[in-house]
Amino acid sequence: MATIVQKYGGTSVGDAERILAVADRVASAHQSGNSVVVVVSAMGRTTDELIRLAADISRNSHLREMDMLLTAGERISMALLAMAIRDRGVEALSLTGSQAGILTDTSHGSAKIRDIRPIRVEEGLQDGKVVIVAGFQGVSPDTKEITTLGRGGSDATAVAMASFLGADVCEIYTDVDGVFTADPRVVPDARKLDVVSYEEMLEFAAAGARVLMARSVEFGRRYKVPLHVRSSFHDREGTWIKEEGMEDAVVSGVAHDDTEAKVTVHGVPDRPGVAASVFEPLAEAGIPVDMIVQNVATAGHTDISFTVPMELADRARTAAMSAAEALGAGGVDVDPDIAKVSIVGAGMGSAPGIAARMFAVLAKAGINIQMISTSPIRVSCVIERDRVEDAVAVLHESFDPPMVQEEGRS
Ligand code: ADP
Ligand code: ASP
Ligand code: MG
Repeated sequence: MATIVQKYGGTSVGDAERILAVADRVASAHQSGNSVVVVVSAMGRTTDELIRLAADISRNSHLREMDMLLTAGERISMALLAMAIRDRGVEALSLTGSQAGILTDTSHGSAKIRDIRPIRVEEGLQDGKVVIVAGFQGVSPDTKEITTLGRGGSDATAVAMASFLGADVCEIYTDVDGVFTADPRVVPDARKLDVVSYEEMLEFAAAGARVLMARSVEFGRRYKVPLHVRSSFHDREGTWIKEEGMEDAVVSGVAHDDTEAKVTVHGVPDRPGVAASVFEPLAEAGIPVDMIVQNVATAGHTDISFTVPMELADRARTAAMSAAEALGAGGVDVDPDIAKVSIVGAGMGSAPGIAARMFAVLAKAGINIQMISTSPIRVSCVIERDRVEDAVAVLHESFDPPMVQEEGRS
């Protein structure tokens, strides 16, 4: 008997009809003799609507109350799904993240899972029940407060739960057929990938391919849980994420992210210790920094630019301004009209000229590059937001069909 964790995203539980279809699928997995844990997201765009509603009520920051509000979305879907499954003659038990033993750090809005004590989940499974867990949420044992895991966090709930239960597979049911060579909504002829390695998926997700939250892939990799990203609309195989990928392409895909803003600190004195003075206040404020570029603008002074999540841009500006004042720097600028486009592929590290080709493709399309960062299997460029879909299209066209590693080159 296998233990299966199934996660259903917002569209997959978007209305009553969809929830009933999910109940059929869950009941059939249970009736085939599997132990089934289901993780659900909030219905449709519920989370976005709750965020908008809160903004209509108050312009101030209420971190604790936002988490109390947003976790309600997942409670609605878990209870409705439990009712539908019970109507199919299968016992089902819904649990909040806290009841399911998901223990997080104290950080409201972007909490990290520290541990899972799935006592009630295991009891439910032993009693032959399907256990449904509300995604995206947990509880901090330090503050006793309810926390949320950040946007897309139900993926992290599912993969972490699968890891702690030692599940045989974690199935991620979503509104596309799997992981594609680019966002299929932007590039209609993107190809579905059959198998992707954890490492590639991690870079893909970090580069903005939101089909899986990056942190969920980290759990999968650490605990070696195979992930199967697939459609909730039919039964065909999707994309497997495991240790070894299958594609021998140099570049597996193109990802884009328009959820970041660029912050520039101008006229920073060029001496040891200034970068630490700029980034320490950001770290203390809990603001994650993605790309960083430092240029010598005029003799003795540099500009430092970096990207941060858009919703933290105001807090990043405040933290950067206080650092700029302390350093006697020129000032701080925030540019929200940027996007990041990346090419990702496990074969890239050993194939020379890939970055140069990416820059040439963007140049030919008249797209200016503002910042560049690389990893052994990824090259990312920050560009003007208005050109991001063009950039994805021209890069996808240039790198797909796959450019396969030449034999003998390692
Ligand atoms: P869910 O609500 O099921 O978690 P998400 O909206 O979070 O779904 O993620 C699925 C979406 O991710 C797809 O609808 C697709 O537009 C987007 N996406 C971006 N990049 C990719 C990619 N490379 N492959 C597949 N989907 C992608
Ligand atoms: N409902 C949350 C969100 O919209 C979590 C999730 O769907 O994964 O971000
Ligand atoms: Mg998602």
